Amino acid sequence: MDQRIANRIGGLAVFPDGPTFDSTNPARPADVIATLPSSTGAAVDDAVAAAREAQREWAARPVPARAEMIAAAAEAVAARKDDLARLVAREAGKILVEAAGDVQEAVDMGRFVAGQGRAAAGETVPSELPGKLAWTTRQPVGVVGMITPWNFPVAIPSWKCFPALLAGNGIVIKPSEEAPVCADRFVECVVDAGVPAGLVNVVHGAAEPGTAITLHPGIGAVSFPGSAPTGGVVAATGMAAGPKLLSLELGGKNAMMVLADADLELAVEGALFGAFGTAGQRCTSTSRLVVQRAVADELVARLAERTEKLMLGDPLDPSTDVGPVINARAGERILAMVAAAREEGGDVVLGGEAVTVAGCDGGTFVAPTIVRVERNHTIARKEVFGPVLAVLVVDEVADAVDVVNDTEYGLSAAVYTRNIAAALWAVERIDTGIVYVNAPTIGAEIPLPFGGTKHTGNGFREAGTRGIEQFSHVKTVYVDYSGRLQKAQIDTHPFEAEEQS
Ligand code: ADP
Repeated sequence: MDQRIANRIGGLAVFPDGPTFDSTNPARPADVIATLPSSTGAAVDDAVAAAREAQREWAARPVPARAEMIAAAAEAVAARKDDLARLVAREAGKILVEAAGDVQEAVDMGRFVAGQGRAAAGETVPSELPGKLAWTTRQPVGVVGMITPWNFPVAIPSWKCFPALLAGNGIVIKPSEEAPVCADRFVECVVDAGVPAGLVNVVHGAAEPGTAITLHPGIGAVSFPGSAPTGGVVAATGMAAGPKLLSLELGGKNAMMVLADADLELAVEGALFGAFGTAGQRCTSTSRLVVQRAVADELVARLAERTEKLMLGDPLDPSTDVGPVINARAGERILAMVAAAREEGGDVVLGGEAVTVAGCDGGTFVAPTIVRVERNHTIARKEVFGPVLAVLVVDEVADAVDVVNDTEYGLSAAVYTRNIAAALWAVERIDTGIVYVNAPTIGAEIPLPFGGTKHTGNGFREAGTRGIEQFSHVKTVYVDYSGRLQKAQIDTHPFEAEEQS
């Protein structure tokens, strides 16, 4: 692989003079994947200008023609799935099967969005007046800025790029500095498939180009999935800089609720995958296990027994169950949260420490951790973003729902029970954007909306047909072919006094 990866601006590889940064393998940080530019706002200016230029021609193409290019891009990603999956494992630390799932999500998203190119879009309503038509259509925002995270380094850029392209926009992506090569290679597939190269621009770096995207007057929409604190900054600066669509997806504190009648083996499997898959670093990772007292001890014991057997190791090794956390700083933060839980009276049943993995020098591996806590403990409420499951014991089903809702976030939740009435009762009361029954909190599918309530976001949803909304403006169109001035609400309901006269 190239050791230097440049920005992609207007179809050219541009490597600005100035500081650089390295993308490294989290399992072995001495393994440098590439050196990239720490770009400034100047690169963002160039990228926005290039995107705008290419966008004018792209937006003039019929939507099905754009969709055909997106379909080709999806197939280009599919053709390189194995290589991309290995890159995801190496750069983001996801184990190979999860890394392949990350890439598959991009393929599925491309195929789905391409299909939307020939689907009905908008609303048509009967006008209240004769000789008049009324409908809605969508228009591009122009250039979309995307600040993407590292934990789904191919899937998330695809979740944003494909709908934004279908909607007729140009794009500037600023990938996370933790997994920039994955984003670059994804864009390479898109461009190789025939999408005009100037349309999809990539600017590498950290907060500086991110801030420049947020502030840029030439950008009509900013899409940001990431941490709540950074999202707060993006929201505040983005709004201050002038009108643009701001689509935020920030954090979660996802809970799995297990009722006394649940299939415990199924719940153990779900909790293992939900809490420790991707080393707990998914937005939808299961962070809390809310369990009814009657089965709590048995469930925790069975889960601990299975968790202990998880193999920590190199994500590129097919026998590994759990890879490293993204960097040493993340490891310190996660372990400090577990230490604080201990101090607050939490009982660490398993894990709670860093682990050394042979052959992975310098990688930060956190042992999958189970900690029994009380509702008021910090770890029961704050996002950990690591392989840590906080167990909370409750008596009644209503208490379980209360605990699930007792957090500032509202992304995903799960209910395990064999009682359909209890499941639906809980589904109705849980305040999250996604609820699963008898499945863990992770595993969103492409055709349905993804997003959350409360501090998880600002109301936008990704994926599904709704995914296109965040990158376009609705336009309401009225056509009056009656040949005379007709007044809505006035001609149809004449003023009463006039009628009587
Ligand atoms: P993480 O998702 O790793 O927790 P953040 O939420 O802090 O990290 O960052 C997500 C993305 O936002 C990264 O691409 C990062 O470079 C970028 N970023 C960081 N600070 C800012 C900022 N002030 N404005 C815009 N983007 C930022």
